[in-house]
Amino acid sequence: MEKYKLTINGKHIEAVRGMTVLEAANSAGIYIPTLCADPDLEPYGSCRLCVVEIEGMRGLPTSCTTPVTEGMVVHTETPAVTAVRKMAVELLIADHPADCLTCTKNQNCELQKVANYLGIKELRFPKTTRKYEIDTSNPFFDIDRNKCILCARCVRTCNEITCVGAIDLAFRGNDTKVATFGDKTLFDSICQSCGECMVRCPTGALALKEVNNYTHEVKTTCPYCGVGCSMILGVRNNKVVSVKGNREGASNQGKLCVKGRFGIPEFVNSPERLTTPLIKKNGKLEKASWDEAIRLIASKFSNYQPEEVAVVSSSRATNEANYITQKFARSALGTNNVDNCARV
Ligand code: SF4
Ligand code: SF4
Ligand code: SF4
Repeated sequence: MEKYKLTINGKHIEAVRGMTVLEAANSAGIYIPTLCADPDLEPYGSCRLCVVEIEGMRGLPTSCTTPVTEGMVVHTETPAVTAVRKMAVELLIADHPADCLTCTKNQNCELQKVANYLGIKELRFPKTTRKYEIDTSNPFFDIDRNKCILCARCVRTCNEITCVGAIDLAFRGNDTKVATFGDKTLFDSICQSCGECMVRCPTGALALKEVNNYTHEVKTTCPYCGVGCSMILGVRNNKVVSVKGNREGASNQGKLCVKGRFGIPEFVNSPERLTTPLIKKNGKLEKASWDEAIRLIASKFSNYQPEEVAVVSSSRATNEANYITQKFARSALGTNNVDNCARV
């Protein structure tokens, strides 16, 4: 792996060839504010917050799109850099509602964070009057375009990560907005409700309908299919109240689909869940022990020839459990009639 030596703010660091200046700075613990950058997405260079000064280079290049080179000398906090960053954020704030206290993203908002970092205390520019109706059509999250800063993280996520392409930046100039094909609601678009765009939105523009704070977290594996996505559950009062993808998960690296992201709390907490086997007696389903249920099934099986029996396994079970199930069908029941509900 070829390495370059460079200097950032007087600190000598090493960076792997192919890294951007932003990545090199971050890996050395040097903070550069950003809004459109995301480690999972291709560099975009639109928010202009990550501009830096590089000796021998004209202007203020965006560090997220500039690759490191040998001997590079970078300054991330000069007066010129700060002036450009402040201007960029002040313009965003001028076009942004002052709703922080009632915003679901309050205290977790990247726009707040950079405004605070840059010490913006007053509004230099007159407020504009952008007024969009909130799209509440999706069952899980809303789009409030009034809080959108047009960083396109959502659009790029939908294209680069989920490969759905449900949303894009549409229209021009001041009318530019995140839109679906034909400017329909999200519900009427091809959106799959995976929520990947929402988790990457730096502001409250894409936000959960309901935010539930948790008291502690539990790492687990999604039970919905056999992929084995790692997830972190937020728990409060012994109930699952939130779900997020675990970036350390080998098979999902933090990503989740609609079922894992939004289908866990209601399902896990449902009082309608079956917690014991049920046996029909006199036309009524009655609770039974596992021993009783298994004995009953075994006695019924003995009335059939092996080829009259089929075993359908579960896509929610682990690979190992499914393996044992087909083994049981073939070795114990003597049938090759084995299937799995995953292929519906
Ligand atoms: S998106 Fe951020 S800055 Fe905008 S209202 Fe919400 S918390 Fe405040
Ligand atoms: S929820 Fe998923 S499919 Fe829908 S717009 Fe966002 S990233 Fe695309
Ligand atoms: S909705 Fe969020 S992620 Fe998408 S462009 Fe607007 S601010 Fe960026």
